[in-house]
Amino acid sequence: MDFVNREEIERKLARVLSKDLRVELDKLLNYLGDPPNLANVPPEYWQAGWKDIQKDVEPVLVDALLQQADDAMIRIGIGVDFDNVNRAAVNWARQHSEEVMQQIWLRTHEYTLDVLSRYSGVGEVIAQGYEEGLTIREISERLERMFSPVRAERIAVTETTRAVVEGERAYVAELERETGQRMIPIWMTANDELVCPICAPKNEKPITNGDYPPAHPNCRCGVGWEFPKDGAL
Ligand SMILES: [Zn+2]
Repeated sequence: MDFVNREEIERKLARVLSKDLRVELDKLLNYLGDPPNLANVPPEYWQAGWKDIQKDVEPVLVDALLQQADDAMIRIGIGVDFDNVNRAAVNWARQHSEEVMQQIWLRTHEYTLDVLSRYSGVGEVIAQGYEEGLTIREISERLERMFSPVRAERIAVTETTRAVVEGERAYVAELERETGQRMIPIWMTANDELVCPICAPKNEKPITNGDYPPAHPNCRCGVGWEFPKDGAL
């Protein structure tokens, strides 16, 4: 399955994510201070810190979805009212990017608490005769991992997959609504040596359980469509 602009979308998404995560890490380190103190971080940071990132992510996802929906329309060759697809795209991207960012932020928060507990737990650890307390530098190095370009890249790949699959589905949903033509979703892996053992067996098989790609982080699978074999609508 080739997506014309897939790499470009991934790159764009990875770029905004890694830039925004970096900004948020700098804010966090600033709040924490030296020596780091979690009480210095205002609750709003964890409640709403993701909203600025969402603002940048959302339009990229809308774009990816619409490009793919357009691609699906050309491939399948039946026109639909694209205004409806547009509306679906905007609604989905708003809701989905909010969910994704909240999830990412929750994990980041938990990880930060974990890292800092190892800092403040020094006394306890020394009592066990085993030095595990972190220095400020180690804390910031560990936090960098959670705000890193590598993580940004992984999120970008996974969410690009979700947006392009959603684009396929948005077009087909509109097609089915307007014409009654049913389409059968087919799982399409990238079919290269990078495909994982989870996805490889699904390649070119119908999706019957409602579980669409991505199947896991970094999944690059997509969806294709077949007309029902019996010619049924
Ligand atoms: Zn996959």
